[in-house]
Amino acid sequence: MKILFAAAEALPFIKVGGLGDVAGALPKALVQKGHDVRVVLPLYSSMKPAMREKCKYLKYFYFLHGWRNCYCGIFEAEVDGVTYYLIDNEYYFKRKAPYGEFDDGERFAFFSRAVLEILPQVGFFPDIIHANDWHTAAVPIYLDSQYRGREGYEYIKTVFSIHNIEFQGKYGLDTLTNVFALAPDWVSVVEHDGCLNLMKGAIERANAVNTVSESYANEILDPYFSFGLDSILRPRRYKLSGIVNGIDMDTFNPATDPAIAVNYSLETREDKVKNKLALQKELGLPEDPDIPMIGMVGRLTSQKGIDLMYPVMEELMKQNVQLVVLGTGYPEIEDFMRFCDAAYHDKMRAMITFSASMAQKIYAGADMFLMPSKSEPCGLAQLISMRYGTMPIVHAVGGLKDTVIPFNPETGTGNGVNFQSYNAWDMYNAIERALGLWENPDTRDQIMVNGMSGDYSWDVSADKYLHLYQSI
Ligand code: ADP
Repeated sequence: MKILFAAAEALPFIKVGGLGDVAGALPKALVQKGHDVRVVLPLYSSMKPAMREKCKYLKYFYFLHGWRNCYCGIFEAEVDGVTYYLIDNEYYFKRKAPYGEFDDGERFAFFSRAVLEILPQVGFFPDIIHANDWHTAAVPIYLDSQYRGREGYEYIKTVFSIHNIEFQGKYGLDTLTNVFALAPDWVSVVEHDGCLNLMKGAIERANAVNTVSESYANEILDPYFSFGLDSILRPRRYKLSGIVNGIDMDTFNPATDPAIAVNYSLETREDKVKNKLALQKELGLPEDPDIPMIGMVGRLTSQKGIDLMYPVMEELMKQNVQLVVLGTGYPEIEDFMRFCDAAYHDKMRAMITFSASMAQKIYAGADMFLMPSKSEPCGLAQLISMRYGTMPIVHAVGGLKDTVIPFNPETGTGNGVNFQSYNAWDMYNAIERALGLWENPDTRDQIMVNGMSGDYSWDVSADKYLHLYQSI
């Protein structure tokens, strides 16, 4: 099968969040199953220089997007059998960071058009275009509105994946023709709640819509989780499904990870504690293997459930624990974490930054990993922590519910601890339960074994995607 994957970020080129992990690993897994998979990405100036050097100039051309005559350079790279096309346009992509600019809508409208425009230029007409999140939500919309009649585009089918329904690509309706270059009669496709909403348009036009876990696919039919799109999704339930993400088991491998102090595997798991000691030393925390360490890595936003930390922090810091937090996000949450770092400096560290290597040190060094997300499409951090033998403590929601199975002392099964209702003291109770389990060396080891021997690879999920592609 010929598959074109369109995303705003993909490892190993650029990553902002979980989408970058998925768009890096899924194409690789599909190639390993013998398919021709190519990925289209913007050529950001903020890309790592080493990866930028791997991109070879292919050609350039111009295309019309509304009244704009747009320059479109194409660079090409091949990594692990996946062909990458990187779209060059310095006006749109020579910026500090991939997103967060005032003109993101215009930038990704250009990019979505470029995804379709390059097909004849590179001589690749796929069977499937797989678009991801709001940045490329316009691809199925443009395909149907402006390309179907052109040779090569007639039979392309589209999959639209929702990695996070919170970010929908919402703009004023006055941008319809000028910025998005859609004819006025397309307003009915993209309009929702008085706004132009790219995700809504993609849900309507894509042949299949999926999210990154089965539970989240059900949850977003409910207004509590849908950020206003449940009324759009419910009638289209027939084409909505959920496929849980995997992780790149080579990148996230404690046996080979170059970022951690001491490598270890299931067989040598007693070495894991050396990573805790190294992290305690690096962070200036008391160096003691018997103090349980709780790690948190992720965006410091309400979605990640950090609000639940406010009422319980004081109580938690009375316990014999250490808490290590790495993340960036809402300024008030960042400030709260900085405050706690200062107030409980003998027990807690907050690193308000993005650091892939520190993240790995926490996954390897911590004994427990706290992820109390209010909603969670899939979540990768809990999978990575289990791969590293670190017990997850999670809110039973979305992908967290699907992947973290509560430990059952009777049967010895399960890989973590969860709590059901989104409530600070329920979370606190789950932390206490986790600490209780950790106290018992046999239980601690059993949970570590269960976590580390889990299969979080893309193998099974890639088969499910292939099945989905085939079904349309
Ligand atoms: P989301 O995509 O909602 O941000 P996920 O758990 O699906 O959350 O994926 C987040 C990914 O980004 C994980 O691989 C996590 O380790 C990484 N990550 C998040 N914040 C940071 C940070 N501050 N430094 C390093 N890595 C981070």
